[in-house]
Amino acid sequence: MHEMALTEGVLRLLEDQAAAQHFERVRKVWLEIGELSTVDPEALRFCFEAIRAGTLAEDAALEIIRTPGRAYCMDCSKAVRVVQRYDSCPDCGGDRLQVTGGDEMRVKELEVE
Ligand SMILES: [Zn+2]
Repeated sequence: MHEMALTEGVLRLLEDQAAAQHFERVRKVWLEIGELSTVDPEALRFCFEAIRAGTLAEDAALEIIRTPGRAYCMDCSKAVRVVQRYDSCPDCGGDRLQVTGGDEMRVKELEVE
Protein backbone atom coordinates (compact mmCIF):
# COMPACT_ATOMS: atom_id res chain seq x y z
CA MET A 1 0.00 0.00 0.00
CA HIS A 2 1.93 3.05 -1.19
CA GLU A 3 -0.66 5.38 0.32
CA MET A 4 1.15 5.11 3.67
CA ALA A 5 4.35 6.53 2.19
CA LEU A 6 2.34 9.25 0.45
CA THR A 7 0.55 10.15 3.66
CA GLU A 8 3.88 10.40 5.48
CA GLY A 9 5.01 12.71 2.69
CA VAL A 10 1.94 14.90 3.20
CA LEU A 11 2.58 15.12 6.95
CA ARG A 12 6.21 16.06 6.35
CA LEU A 13 5.07 18.76 3.96
CA LEU A 14 2.68 20.11 6.62
CA GLU A 15 5.52 20.19 9.14
CA ASP A 16 7.76 22.05 6.70
CA GLN A 17 5.00 24.55 6.02
CA ALA A 18 4.38 25.00 9.73
CA ALA A 19 8.06 25.78 10.29
CA ALA A 20 8.21 28.18 7.35
CA GLN A 21 4.93 29.97 8.04
CA HIS A 22 4.85 29.76 11.81
CA PHE A 23 1.65 27.94 12.53
CA GLU A 24 1.17 25.18 15.05
CA ARG A 25 -1.98 23.30 14.19
CA VAL A 26 -3.61 22.25 10.99
CA ARG A 27 -7.41 22.42 11.09
CA LYS A 28 -8.19 21.27 7.61
CA VAL A 29 -6.32 19.91 4.62
CA TRP A 30 -7.62 20.03 1.07
CA LEU A 31 -5.88 17.35 -0.90
CA GLU A 32 -6.27 17.04 -4.64
CA ILE A 33 -6.04 13.54 -6.02
CA GLY A 34 -6.27 13.18 -9.77
CA GLU A 35 -8.62 10.58 -11.20
CA LEU A 36 -5.73 9.16 -13.22
CA SER A 37 -3.35 8.90 -10.30
CA THR A 38 -2.76 5.53 -8.70
CA VAL A 39 -3.72 6.86 -5.28
CA ASP A 40 -6.75 5.29 -3.66
CA PRO A 41 -8.48 8.17 -1.79
CA GLU A 42 -10.10 5.90 0.80
CA ALA A 43 -6.80 4.16 1.55
CA LEU A 44 -5.15 7.53 1.88
CA ARG A 45 -7.83 8.73 4.28
CA PHE A 46 -7.37 5.57 6.33
CA CYS A 47 -3.60 6.13 6.52
CA PHE A 48 -4.04 9.78 7.42
CA GLU A 49 -6.32 8.90 10.31
CA ALA A 50 -3.94 6.14 11.40
CA ILE A 51 -0.73 8.18 11.62
CA ARG A 52 -1.75 11.73 12.45
CA ALA A 53 -1.98 11.19 16.24
CA GLY A 54 0.62 13.30 18.00
CA THR A 55 1.31 15.41 14.92
CA LEU A 56 0.25 18.96 14.13
CA ALA A 57 -2.58 17.50 12.07
CA GLU A 58 -4.01 15.46 14.93
CA ASP A 59 -7.45 17.08 14.70
CA ALA A 60 -7.32 18.05 11.07
CA ALA A 61 -10.18 17.30 8.76
CA LEU A 62 -9.18 15.84 5.43
CA GLU A 63 -11.04 17.04 2.38
CA ILE A 64 -10.28 15.06 -0.75
CA ILE A 65 -10.93 16.70 -4.10
CA ARG A 66 -10.84 14.53 -7.21
CA THR A 67 -9.40 16.36 -10.16
CA PRO A 68 -10.58 15.18 -13.59
CA GLY A 69 -8.31 13.32 -15.97
CA ARG A 70 -7.28 15.33 -19.01
CA ALA A 71 -5.38 14.37 -22.10
CA TYR A 72 -4.38 15.69 -25.47
CA CYS A 73 -5.29 13.59 -28.46
CA MET A 74 -2.58 13.56 -31.09
CA ASP A 75 -4.94 12.15 -33.70
CA CYS A 76 -7.61 14.85 -33.61
CA SER A 77 -5.49 17.54 -31.88
CA LYS A 78 -7.97 18.18 -29.14
CA ALA A 79 -7.86 18.37 -25.37
CA VAL A 80 -10.21 15.68 -24.10
CA ARG A 81 -11.52 14.35 -20.82
CA VAL A 82 -10.44 10.83 -19.85
CA VAL A 83 -11.52 8.66 -16.96
CA GLN A 84 -8.76 6.08 -17.08
CA ARG A 85 -5.13 6.32 -18.03
CA TYR A 86 -5.36 4.05 -21.07
CA ASP A 87 -8.69 5.28 -22.40
CA SER A 88 -8.93 5.99 -26.08
CA CYS A 89 -10.04 9.37 -27.35
CA PRO A 90 -13.76 9.95 -26.64
CA ASP A 91 -14.01 12.00 -29.84
CA CYS A 92 -12.16 10.06 -32.53
CA GLY A 93 -11.43 6.73 -30.82
CA GLY A 94 -7.69 7.19 -31.34
CA ASP A 95 -5.32 5.83 -28.71
CA ARG A 96 -2.47 8.30 -29.04
CA LEU A 97 -3.39 10.29 -25.97
CA GLN A 98 -0.97 12.22 -23.86
CA VAL A 99 -2.09 12.74 -20.27
CA THR A 100 -1.96 16.44 -19.41
CA GLY A 101 -3.66 16.53 -16.02
CA GLY A 102 -5.39 14.60 -13.30
CA ASP A 103 -2.50 12.24 -12.62
CA GLU A 104 -1.08 14.05 -9.63
CA MET A 105 -1.67 14.46 -5.92
CA ARG A 106 -1.05 17.73 -4.14
CA VAL A 107 -2.01 19.73 -1.10
CA LYS A 108 -4.24 22.47 -2.44
CA GLU A 109 -5.02 24.45 0.65
CA LEU A 110 -4.61 24.42 4.40
CA GLU A 111 -6.61 25.90 7.22
CA VAL A 112 -4.25 26.51 10.09
CA GLU A 113 -3.95 28.26 13.40
ZN1 LIG B 1 -9.07 12.16 -30.82
